[in-house]
Amino acid sequence: MGKIKIATDWLAGCAGCHMSLLDIDERIVKLLEAVEFTSSPVTDLKHPPEEGVTVGILEGAISNTHNIEVARQMRERCQFLIAIGDCATFGGIVATRNLVGTQAALQRAYLESETTVDGCIPDSPELGVPLETVTGVDKVVHVDLFIPGCPPSADALFYALSELLAGRVPVVLPPELFRYD
Ligand code: SF4
Repeated sequence: MGKIKIATDWLAGCAGCHMSLLDIDERIVKLLEAVEFTSSPVTDLKHPPEEGVTVGILEGAISNTHNIEVARQMRERCQFLIAIGDCATFGGIVATRNLVGTQAALQRAYLESETTVDGCIPDSPELGVPLETVTGVDKVVHVDLFIPGCPPSADALFYALSELLAGRVPVVLPPELFRYD
């Protein structure tokens, strides 16, 4: 049997969940005997291959239209989608923007902060259009497994991937693997 293909990507997040994935440390060597990471923000290939992958992993919240496009492409190209981290699960820290509204948050961050000089709100098409409400990934695409935490522990991520490789769906992770700090 060939290697299981995995693709990862990030949406509106801080990259901390991907850092936790790398924190699997030397166990990643054992993992790589069974899986191939085809694309990720830290590899040359940035988008999941057109022929698809078995497992897709998304970090980060849905905050703008670009995030929606990335999430939909990952969903279309993977058989099993995992949302990792609080941001991907329910919006997390990014969703605190919802408390004040998008325009007020952008204005405060880019125009009114104490260190801003000649500020401007970024509006490049590459960034997508900010949404009025930040959400988790499942508000846009179907998610097969959530691994909450900020970030989820490397042990939780390794456990979930190991279970999938063993042909089991890790519906409920062992409670000791959850981290809420
Ligand atoms: S869940 Fe935490 S670590 Fe992961 S992207 Fe969001 S803020 Fe960063």
